[in-house]
Amino acid sequence: MKYWRDITLPIPEWFKTWVIDVSKPFPEVEQRMSLVIDLARMSIKNGGGPFGAAVFNQNTGELIAPGVNWVVPGKSSLLHAEVMALALAEQALGSYELASHGSFELVTSVEPCCQCLGVLMWTGVASIVCGARSEDAKAIGFNEGPRSLHWERELKQRGISVTREVMRSQAVEVLQSYTGEIYNSQLQASNWPK
Ligand SMILES: [Zn+2]
Repeated sequence: MKYWRDITLPIPEWFKTWVIDVSKPFPEVEQRMSLVIDLARMSIKNGGGPFGAAVFNQNTGELIAPGVNWVVPGKSSLLHAEVMALALAEQALGSYELASHGSFELVTSVEPCCQCLGVLMWTGVASIVCGARSEDAKAIGFNEGPRSLHWERELKQRGISVTREVMRSQAVEVLQSYTGEIYNSQLQASNWPK
């Protein structure tokens, strides 16, 4: 007989022992992106995907929650870096949405895929900052899914500011160093059900 349980999504073991002084803010956008690129690098080293993300308080630069791509080790297609960071931020703030708790920024080492675009919209972040472009992820075989060509404009229309190509070359370097599994690469648009 089948039965279902509460869903528990794993975070990497190393998060629990990762030494970071959270009382020290990250006031400059390059500092925030640098941390996120380091997360992507650490993710690869520990068997995860080559993507990092984090949620920061937009006004103070305080780190609220980190995220890495943990799809393969965590056995869940939900576990993109942005989703992990946003879900942990929601846990930290005790709410399914962030907007009523302040102004928050999602920083991600690569532009968001179709899943992460949806999630970030519903969490109520005020801004998103991206490192590498989608085509950089595509160049190593990852798939961003059926995302609107106008995603940047659509986010802005919803009041979410978008900044692209912050430290892009460093983010691309991490992508290109990845030799692990490229999941979903077989799911090309032409194979999707009509
Ligand atoms: Zn994603």
